[in-house]
Amino acid sequence: MPKMKQTLARKARAPRPTAPRAVLAPAVEIPEVRISARGAQRLKGGHVWVYRSDIDSADVAAGALVVVKDHRGKPLGTALYSSSSQIAVRMISPNAVAAEELPALLRERIRAAITYRKQVVENTDACRLVFSEADFLPGLILDRYNEVLCLQILTQGMDSAVARDAIVRTFAEDLRPAGIVERVEPRVRELEQLPPRPSQLVHGETSASIFTMNGVRFHFDGLTGQKTGGFLDQRENYAVAEHYSHGEALDVFCYQGGFALHLARRCTSVTGVDSSRPALEVAEQNSQLNGHEIDWIEANAFDLLKDYAGANRQYDTIVLDPPAFAKSRRDLDAALRGYKELNLRALKMLRLGGILVTCSCSYHVDDTSFAEMLTAAALDSRRTLRILEKRGQAKDHPVLPTIPETSYLKATICYVV
Ligand code: SAH
Repeated sequence: MPKMKQTLARKARAPRPTAPRAVLAPAVEIPEVRISARGAQRLKGGHVWVYRSDIDSADVAAGALVVVKDHRGKPLGTALYSSSSQIAVRMISPNAVAAEELPALLRERIRAAITYRKQVVENTDACRLVFSEADFLPGLILDRYNEVLCLQILTQGMDSAVARDAIVRTFAEDLRPAGIVERVEPRVRELEQLPPRPSQLVHGETSASIFTMNGVRFHFDGLTGQKTGGFLDQRENYAVAEHYSHGEALDVFCYQGGFALHLARRCTSVTGVDSSRPALEVAEQNSQLNGHEIDWIEANAFDLLKDYAGANRQYDTIVLDPPAFAKSRRDLDAALRGYKELNLRALKMLRLGGILVTCSCSYHVDDTSFAEMLTAAALDSRRTLRILEKRGQAKDHPVLPTIPETSYLKATICYVV
């Protein structure tokens, strides 16, 4: 598309003067980073990260735009540099980008990200509009909750005044939101050695909205409450879980009720369990908003499942959507034991013909280990599983096969006999 436009525009213009552009010196000299052969190989494979251990030389300021060169000096493209992260380099273009061209590049990338969502997202006014590396905007997350946008900046490069201004301006002008809230995770800024910043409105007047996914309505408030926002990555899985659900349902790790509110449209009764009281308070407001009666229980899910399984409680539909147990590769074994315990107990509690929706959002737990864990839990609980669907994250969180880290969510739906 953009190519066609360019051609048409060129034809309409007078012929270009022949003076070659290359003789003009660039306005600002861009610093360079030399990377190892292994780093270059990684980029060749379509990844956009270079780890610090693959940096041969860099005399570069925090967050700078840099030219990346291989060990022989061949330019490989342009990146944003982090002086603190183990991921020292995040590519933003395979071409040369001058410092003054950065705002236009960000604008173009943001517009492409919005166009992609227009094509693949339906049945919602809430979705992730920018998913960092997967949209070639490393370090930037932008979620839309109806008329309010929620911005997260995760790297030094995206935190520069120039980048921030281009990002906020593009969204404000193109989407005309009622508000843009910046959500800050203090730990992320600390790790990136960025000065602290409050979560705050950075544009417009409003930080709260009501948004709708699959016809279910949710409260959003970008500024109050412990944690904000929904788990937009489960949006398509909510609808699928609802489709298979029936009877008495239990939503474990329910947060603000994403699955529970969907199941309530089909099931005879729904119970949601979470350890966070603030999350359950919003969940209750959400059930009122949708006119459903749901029991919300504040409890540690491990204790509650143990008690319920011990008391022989039975359900027809159980959802397990725990937080990421494996934050790093080192936690993998402990994480798998945690997942197995939850799945084992849930399987014991399902009636014949029951539905298990089991999820993991740990990137380090890959598809194979998740499937093996589930098989072991089924064998130990003497249940047989029929896999109805193996799913991942919603399409507004795109997965790039060349960047494995973009794929993290697993959601398996089973018929249990
Ligand atoms: N299913 C939810 C998202 C779940 S996120 C949705 O679709 O919106 C994980 C949730 O687990 C968080 O709400 C967190 O408060 C909760 N949690 C974390 N540890 C817990 C524990 N041990 N017991 C119960 N809930 C827990």
